[in-house]
Amino acid sequence: MADKSGLIQVYFGEGKGKTTAALGTTLRAAGQGMKVLLVQFFKNKFTGELASLQLLPGVDVYRFGSGEFIRGEVSPEDQREFFLGWHMVREALEKKEYDVVILDELPYAFYYHLLTWEECREALEQKNPEVEVIITGRKVPEELITIADLVSEIKLVKHPFNKGIPARRGFEY
Ligand code: ATP
Ligand code: MG
Repeated sequence: MADKSGLIQVYFGEGKGKTTAALGTTLRAAGQGMKVLLVQFFKNKFTGELASLQLLPGVDVYRFGSGEFIRGEVSPEDQREFFLGWHMVREALEKKEYDVVILDELPYAFYYHLLTWEECREALEQKNPEVEVIITGRKVPEELITIADLVSEIKLVKHPFNKGIPARRGFEY
């Protein structure tokens, strides 16, 4: 179903809307009969999209994270989870099973020294050319921006969090 040339997309920045943009693309691609793999790293708390995506054919969601917010050192469980997830991603990038592979919050892996940029670049270079990749994260390496085909920076103008309004059901999770 996908075009021959799968591209690399990056949604990054301090503003809200990176994961929701990736979810919007998931919705659109699924409606075109495409198969989507959404891999969320360093997370496992419930968010509304988990329930909604179950209703969509052709969309698989996997989450890798201990669920605990990482403070300082990464726990052995978070490390284990990360490597399980990365293994799945490598396979998905090489095969043609999915038309779109979304790597939500992958860039934290660089920050926590679980993955080097070279390893990531190699995986992206060796990916099946038909697979479209979407990477989201607040901060991404400059090198990723250089090799990506589509880059959107989401700028923070206002966020209710800064007024002391905590994350809201249905909007932030
Ligand atoms: P969303 O999932 O809502 O699209 P995001 O992917 O752009 O947000 P993340 O960095 O993944 O943003 O943020 C995780 C959580 O923090 C989400 O609940 C998100 O809504 C919220 N958030 C996003 N931007 C900000 C901000 N500038 N200040 C505080 N919270 C934020
Ligand atoms: Mg996000």
